[in-house]
Amino acid sequence: MPVSPENPTLIDQINALLPQTQCGQCSFQGCRPYAEAIAFGSADINQCPPGGDEGIRDLAALLNVPCKPLNTEFGVHKPASVAFIIEQDCIGCVKCIAVCPVDAILGAAKFMHTVIAAECTGCELCIAPCPVDCIVMQAVPGNAAELNQAQKSAQFKRRYDARCLRKQKQEVEKAERAQKKKQALLKQLGKAGR
Ligand code: SF4
Ligand code: SF4
Ligand code: SF4
Repeated sequence: MPVSPENPTLIDQINALLPQTQCGQCSFQGCRPYAEAIAFGSADINQCPPGGDEGIRDLAALLNVPCKPLNTEFGVHKPASVAFIIEQDCIGCVKCIAVCPVDAILGAAKFMHTVIAAECTGCELCIAPCPVDCIVMQAVPGNAAELNQAQKSAQFKRRYDARCLRKQKQEVEKAERAQKKKQALLKQLGKAGR
């Protein structure tokens, strides 16, 4: 199959083989940008540590290119894990919620936060922003481990896409509010100038 940027189906096919952890270890802002870079020929197929050797094998088969080992400059493949918040230490700063790509953290400002383990991709993005180091990674619990990789990836993608859509809507609403405020101000200034 030719690797061509004019082939959006190919990007979707590549993206479907990525784990959708949305961790950014591949050096791209999520799985789809990495899929695009592979399709454009600007990234290699061995840059995704969560996908590991199995993921590389699938990508190589799809693209009909030789298989190769994971490039460990991007990280190492680890067993599946999920974040856990040590709730008694949580100060409710909401910094973890702001970075979670799949809305897997529940909480509100000044209240204790908790992770929905079944929705957590294990991306570890919430660990660094926590000012009190109360987030740790734990082995995947039984219910999540029962799902196969394809099921988990599809679930993570749905959650990630929903979050992106929600954030886009919020940006549009924010811009509309700013525009209305500006118009009201201009109207007031117009009245005052008469
Ligand atoms: S899961 Fe793989 S492809 Fe997706 S962001 Fe992480 S490293 Fe990149
Ligand atoms: S809870 Fe943390 S590790 Fe889990 S998906 Fe959200 S940011 Fe990633
Ligand atoms: S970043 Fe840490 S302290 Fe802040 S809300 Fe999240 S878990 Fe609690």
